[in-house]
Amino acid sequence: MLSNYHTHSHYCDGKGALREYVEYALAHDFKALGFSGHAPVPFPNKFSIDQAHYQDYCNEVRSLQQEYAGRIDIKLGLEIDYIPGVLEDFGDLIASGGLQYTIGSVHLIPHPDRTEALRHMERGVARPQADDRRGMDIANELWFIDGPRQETYDEGLQRIFHGDIRAGVKAFFYQNNAMIERNRPTIVGHFDKIVMHNKGRYFQYDEHWFRDLLYETVQLIRETGCMAEINTRGLYKGRHDDFYPAKETLRHMNTLGIPVIVGTDAHEPANLDRFEGAFEFLKAIGYRNIVSTLSC
Ligand SMILES: [Zn+2]
Ligand SMILES: [Zn+2]
Repeated sequence: MLSNYHTHSHYCDGKGALREYVEYALAHDFKALGFSGHAPVPFPNKFSIDQAHYQDYCNEVRSLQQEYAGRIDIKLGLEIDYIPGVLEDFGDLIASGGLQYTIGSVHLIPHPDRTEALRHMERGVARPQADDRRGMDIANELWFIDGPRQETYDEGLQRIFHGDIRAGVKAFFYQNNAMIERNRPTIVGHFDKIVMHNKGRYFQYDEHWFRDLLYETVQLIRETGCMAEINTRGLYKGRHDDFYPAKETLRHMNTLGIPVIVGTDAHEPANLDRFEGAFEFLKAIGYRNIVSTLSC
């Protein structure tokens, strides 16, 4: 039974209208489809839903939900960035949007010593423009670990962490931990994505310090009862040679009984069924706790 709950659209950094995703999903025999646009953030950027369009997004998903009821189960969600000092509490977005589920993800990392300063910076509101001084002040404090360009990753690591990869990776995992403890997102998104642009250059996946941080987050997911995503986007975009999290981490998670849900992180309709062998892999290793539909 096919489903996907990690779906973007033209409201954020994806291509295509919501309806095009629904039609693609129906044509490919999906039983459920969840929308998870990037949550609005208070600084200029090219990836998130504008605050001014947030209600339009929620309303359009709800109207499609009604229109397609009985044919496909559409859910209203959001992929929310947890950013210390900037966006720490998911409650307002959940309440104002009437969200049915959340994917909690970390893409932007401030230096931990700057959290208090960020908390007191004035925020650009509504639609922060590229020349918005206040919003830019916040943006300049963040290491963006995602996106297509390795140079962005390298530049941010230098600017925010002065090239100290261990400090940067530690901040990434601590940020995930704080997000999980505080917000208990329905789904914890791509929680080892910090490796995407590493490409074995700064550290290896099996180094002890990295493994310890990774497993601490895994343990927290288990204790809080969240489910974890298996994100396939790195594979079909050719940016990474594994799922997020990696296969060896999934084997460890299976021993702990952590529930997982496969998400394609679709940014265009044809990405919706790019599962990249995830179900075959889970079957091969005898993964016990696979979630296929959300009952929210
Ligand atoms: Zn993401
Ligand atoms: Zn995403």
